[in-house]
Amino acid sequence: MEKPIRVVKDSMIGVKLPDYSRHSAIVASVLGKNPGPFTGPGTNTYLVGRGRRPLILDTGAGVAVYPELLARGLAELCGSQELDKIVVTHAHGDHLGGVRQIRPRFGELEILKMPWPGHDDAAGAPITALADGDRVEADGATLRAVFTPGHAPDHLCYYLEQERAIFTGDVILGAGTTVIPDDTGDLGQYMNSLRRLLQLDPELIYPAHGPVIRNAREKIREYIAHRELREQQVLEVLREGPHQVMAMVKRIYIDVPAFLHNAAASSVRSHLRKLHKEGVVVEEEDNYWRLS
Ligand SMILES: [Zn+2]
Repeated sequence: MEKPIRVVKDSMIGVKLPDYSRHSAIVASVLGKNPGPFTGPGTNTYLVGRGRRPLILDTGAGVAVYPELLARGLAELCGSQELDKIVVTHAHGDHLGGVRQIRPRFGELEILKMPWPGHDDAAGAPITALADGDRVEADGATLRAVFTPGHAPDHLCYYLEQERAIFTGDVILGAGTTVIPDDTGDLGQYMNSLRRLLQLDPELIYPAHGPVIRNAREKIREYIAHRELREQQVLEVLREGPHQVMAMVKRIYIDVPAFLHNAAASSVRSHLRKLHKEGVVVEEEDNYWRLS
């Protein structure tokens, strides 16, 4: 039998979602309208809470058409024009970037997230610091912050107690896999974060990009298996001798179009950094060697 070359087989390319939709009595979403190869149809900005004053979880990228769409979505989904507060998964621009649009229109709302010094300025206002385990209350909904670094050092997922659901931000996406940046990301931490999410035994995942995931535990296991297979592939290529990153990308990502090879290289570097920390791989003049 031929060896599998990837575990996660779907991708964000071509995924379409409605501009806004209601998912349950306490969760609805409005699309950030920032489509792209990594964001899919755009960031999902979630409205959480039962009543006419939900909190908003993630804010999109600051696209000009978004505030009007949010106002329409709020009217349609919640029968109101009010928000309670802003909760953010992490400081990347497509999550924090809409804060400066939302506050002038919907009031000087509190902004809650785990601080990431130097990266939170995009909010344009002070942050209320959240830490692992902190609770955030909305009408009929309780969120619990779960520290899940790896994709970003400030990443919080939010566990919604009433639905055994997790808002996973960029840790788990509705299609394809997430990028682990090779500078500010950490694959070892990311793997621990995935295992931590699995321990929460969730039923449902509300990702920051792509459709809602109804087989939550299966998806998390799939994500773990995907990275484990990638690590094996990196080690197998290195068994043949030292390689540079792009040469590895061309061997491992044979089914990935060339315009995504830079992102793939970032992932390979993240694997190499993890393996380097574990004492399995060394680097010399842009070449990576396997030690054992
Ligand atoms: Zn991100």
